[in-house]
Parts: sequence; structure tokens; C-alpha cells
Amino acid sequence: MAEFDLIDLIRARCEVGRADVRLGIGDDAAVLAVPAGHELAVSTDTLVAGVHFPAATRADDLGWKALAVNLSDLAAMGATPAWALLALTLPAAERSLVEGFAIGFAELAAQHRVALVGGDTTRGPLAVSVVVHGFVPPGRALRRDGAQVGDLVFVTGTLGDAAAGLRCLDPRDVQAHALFHAPADAREWLLARLNRPMPRIAAGIALREFATACIDVSDGLCADLGHVAKRSDVGIEVDASRLPASSALLALFDEADRVALQASGGDDYELAFTAPPAREAELQRDLARLGCGATRIGRVVAGSGVRLQDNAGTEIALYRRGWEHFA
Ligand code: ADP
Ligand code: MG
Repeated sequence: MAEFDLIDLIRARCEVGRADVRLGIGDDAAVLAVPAGHELAVSTDTLVAGVHFPAATRADDLGWKALAVNLSDLAAMGATPAWALLALTLPAAERSLVEGFAIGFAELAAQHRVALVGGDTTRGPLAVSVVVHGFVPPGRALRRDGAQVGDLVFVTGTLGDAAAGLRCLDPRDVQAHALFHAPADAREWLLARLNRPMPRIAAGIALREFATACIDVSDGLCADLGHVAKRSDVGIEVDASRLPASSALLALFDEADRVALQASGGDDYELAFTAPPAREAELQRDLARLGCGATRIGRVVAGSGVRLQDNAGTEIALYRRGWEHFA
């Protein structure tokens, strides 16, 4: 397949009509109209084969995830997604790969009315870069630097599922054999959380009313809360026993493994945020209404860094706090 046939294939799959796209795929640049009275939130994330996803990942799952991890960044800012750019690096112009990729990407893009407005297609080791753009009311973006001493710390959904899903796929994992024979629905659930993360867009928008700081959990809860602590110049205490677990995680892992997966596993794409105690009931109610719920997992204290502790207040040491590329 020629480069331009691949681009046509992607364009045909990812058609989303938006009046604010004055000029989409096909010219030297897209021309886009930011709605009056809004600020633009912009973010980019890259997925590299063998680093961010196993080489055997299905093309449609990869397409979904490449957009999902980017939309998750917009969710963490409280932004409403609008446009995306896609830079694809492919080892070969393989139709089935590109078609599968476009199907998964388009499926999620349609859910959030995201228009694919351009990109780049090059040859090389499989990698995907996406740029996303979203809108926020002026001055209302959620940031990492607003956590206040006395705030409570919350997280949406459940933690550790994606990291557990990855372990189900790892033949070197001592537990992999047992996991492979685990109930199919539990395994499927964990793998879906790994391959098809659901960016918490609606929750992020709702949190503009409540959160003092917000981040999406991509590298691992403690590592990501560490960014909030540092940018806000505070400390954060996390209660290990309060970390939310799915029934699949509870069924397949013992407590020590579970806490490690939840606190440092990563790839969760949930939102971790801080809010004043006086807003707790209201925010819990609003997020429950959106179907993701939020769990209170800790508190903001004077000091620095993130401390994971058990019920007795004893610090739990983590072998690895989170994913870091150049560690
Ligand atoms: P240029 O050489 O001017 O950068 P290209 O030949 O790379 O343009 O791309 C032609 C058009 O197709 C441009 O509008 C570009 O944005 C779009 N495009 C290229 N690759 C992709 C892709 N993977 N996804 C979406 N649009 C793409
Ligand atoms: Mg180009």
C-alpha cells in the first residue's frame, strides 16, 4: 500500500463532522477554530512497541489506547476534547494493521466527538504519537500545583487492573501460569483495562468544580501523586488499605501483590485529585452519578513526597514507585 492510500484509509475511518474544523486532513496544515471564550489545552503522548505495549497487541486495541492515553491527559486538565493529530511510524505499509488501528482509534474518537485533523506517516519501528486538543473555560483548567495542606486525596475507579493484565501476558512471571488458568472473565476484565482504558473525560469536567489539583494515573499512583506533591509543595499520605480494587484484582492477587500493583503498577488512566474535606459529599455524589465513583485514599500534609502507609501508620516500601523511562 502507498503512503497516501494509508492516509485515505485512516481518514475514511475517522470521519467526525465538526464545524470548528475549517480544514482537516489533506492540506499542509489543519485550520481550526477555537470557540470564543475558551482556552485551548494541548497534549501529546507516544506509544513505542515493546516499551508501552507488547509487540503482540492487537491493532485495534493499539489504536484505541493511543488516543485513550492522550484523552486521559485532557481529562486530567478538565478539558473537553475536540481535535487530534496522529503520527504513525510503521515498519511496513501493511493494510490490515492500519485498518485495525484506524477502527480502534475511530471507535474511541467517535465516543468523544474527536476529529482527526492531520498527522504524519513514516517508516520505522512501530510507534504511535498522538496530539490532542481540548477546550477549557478561561482559568479553569485543573492543574498539579493547587493541592493545599488539609485537602483529601481521591482516585476514580479502581487501581492496578492494567498492570495485573500485563502480568497475565508475561510468560516469565512466576504467577503467569496460575493467572492463565484464572477464571476467564477475571482475566478478560484485566486485559480490557490494559488494552482499552476509558479516559475519565466527564469526571475531569465535573472536577473543575471541586478539585484543587488533579493528575491522571499513568506511571503509577505514588509516582504520579509525587508530581502533585512536588508541584504543590506539599506532602501526601496514602492509606494502602483504602486503595480501590476491582473484584478481578481481589480474586487473583494476594494483598501484598495487590498493593504493589495498585500503588505503582501504572497504566490505570484514572484521575487522582485533591479537594477540601467540605466538598467531599458533593463530589462523591456527582462522580457516582457519572458512573465512575471516587474513593478517598489519603490526605495532603505539610512536608514533601508521597508516603504509602498501612492501617497502623507504618510506611510501606515499594520496590518500584512507578514507571520511569530513563531510570
Ligand atoms: P506534508 O508532507 O505536507 O507534511 P503529508 O504528505 O505528510 O503532508 O500528509 C498529507 C496530509 O495527510 C496532511 O494533511 C497530513 O496532516 C495528513 N496525514 C498524514 N499522515 C496522517 C495520519 N497518520 N493520520 C492522519 N492524517 C495524516
Ligand atoms: Mg509529512
